[in-house]
Parts: sequence; structure tokens; C-alpha cells
Amino acid sequence: EPSIVFDDVVFGYEPDRRILHGLSFEVPAGQAFAIVGPSGAGKSTIARLLFRFYDPLSGRILIDGQDIREVAQSSLRAAIGIVPQDSVLFNDTIGYNIGYGRDGAGVAKIEAAARGAALTSLIERLPQGFDTEVGERGLKLSGGEKQRVAIARTLVKNPPILILDEATSALDTRTEQEILATLHRVTEHRTSLSIAHRLSTIADADRILVLNEGRLAESGTHAQLLRQG
Ligand code: ADP
Ligand code: ADP
Repeated sequence: EPSIVFDDVVFGYEPDRRILHGLSFEVPAGQAFAIVGPSGAGKSTIARLLFRFYDPLSGRILIDGQDIREVAQSSLRAAIGIVPQDSVLFNDTIGYNIGYGRDGAGVAKIEAAARGAALTSLIERLPQGFDTEVGERGLKLSGGEKQRVAIARTLVKNPPILILDEATSALDTRTEQEILATLHRVTEHRTSLSIAHRLSTIADADRILVLNEGRLAESGTHAQLLRQG
């Protein structure tokens, strides 16, 4: 279980416009953290920096105590699993979609891995089995079903760090609450970062960081932040 440290991170996409202004925070190993804040606050930028799609202008990002600039890109990608808002599925079976990226793994192996990773609650709620064709030439899944497959696809790799970037934001409230309940179990005792623009759309977290215009506005537990209004 690795920790994540942002140490005085300054970043901007363009030379004269800073997006993150010396951002510092630490997600201790095995803890579920959330980042909330208005659209444009810089939340997804944090995820992009973790993947090294970009590097900070100054400051450091550490995973498990190691500067990520010293970590091989392949190790970094293996260490971090991400569930984005709108996951794109392949026109293939659910099993193929969940197993994509695992070299040569057949559906049976993927299914076993999914069960091992306690994904049954995600999979059981899908009306069809692993060999169901989905997408253009098969069954059209609902937004919620698609996200369940996308979450399973990420979890089956058992990433040490999990990032949920508005993973349920596109769903209706009821579906969102159902999936959040599953995500709560999945993020418990796992180093994770849930990104959302509303407090109500994150699974219960150990700590919530409120980001505003690239700065930490406040942080606390769900209850503490609600009390402060
Ligand atoms: P959030 O996830 O909180 O909505 P983002 O991290 O996506 O915010 O974006 C933060 C700011 O950075 C926004 O003002 C956005 O317009 C800007 N931004 C995001 N991506 C780029 C990019 N590739 N080039 C220039 N500006 C960008
Ligand atoms: P894999 O075959 O293991 O899915 P990829 O090269 O497709 O590997 O992606 C590596 C990691 O980067 C995955 O966790 C993926 O979800 C994430 N990723 C890919 N594209 C983006 C993106 N545009 N924004 C954020 N994360 C991304």
C-alpha cells in the first residue's frame, strides 16, 4: 500500500497561467481521500500529474516515498488504476472489456480474478454474463452498467492506488448511490483519491480535501465539512 505526497506542487498548462499554486497534501498508505471543488479548480490536473502526463513546474510528487520522476512509466501505470467519468467500452464481450490489457488472459481467468477481487457485487448486478456482446454490435448497456464494467476493468488489475475521477457524476442519483456504496467497500483500506465536484457524490472518505482555484481551501472528514457548511 503506497502513500501519495504532493509537496509544494506548482503547475500550469500555459507559461503565464498557474493552475496549482504550491499544492501540498499527503494521502497516507491505505487511506481513502477525496478531492472536491468546483469545475476548473484543478482536480483532474492532479490525476494527470500523478500519471506524468505533465510534470510540475516546481515541487515534487512522491509515491511510496519515491519521486515519480524516478519511476519507470510502466511501473507508474501499473501502480495507478483510474476510473474516468465516461468510460469507453470495446465492441466486444463484457469479459473482454474487463480483461483488456491483461495479456492473453481468457474470460475464465478474468472471471476468476474478478471474483477474487470481490467484484461480484459489481458483476452480479449486470443482467447478463461475461460472454454478452456489448456496444454497437451487441447489447447497449446503461450508463450505470457501463461504469460497473469500467470499475471492474480497473479493479481486476488490483492497482495499489485507485483514482476515481468523477466516476459516477454522469449517472442518475439512484444509480450513483448504488455504485458509491460498492466504491466505498472497494476504497476502504486502499490508497485512493476520489475526485468530484460535489460532496454528495463521493464514497465516504477518510479525509476530504477542498480544492479551490488550485489551492487547498479546507480539509476534514465528511461530518466536519458539513458542520462548517
Ligand atoms: P477540474 O478537474 O477541477 O474541473 P481541471 O484540472 O480539469 O479542473 O482544469 C483546471 C484548469 O486548467 C481549468 O481552468 C482548465 O480550463 C485548465 N486546463 C485543463 N486542461 C488544460 C489544457 N490541456 N490546456 C490548458 N488549460 C487546461
Ligand atoms: P492499460 O492497458 O493498462 O489500460 P493504458 O495505457 O490504456 O493501460 O492506460 C494506463 C493508465 O492510464 C490506465 O489506468 C488508464 O485508465 C489511464 N489513462 C489513460 N488515458 C488517460 C487519460 N486521458 N486521463 C487519465 N488517465 C488515463
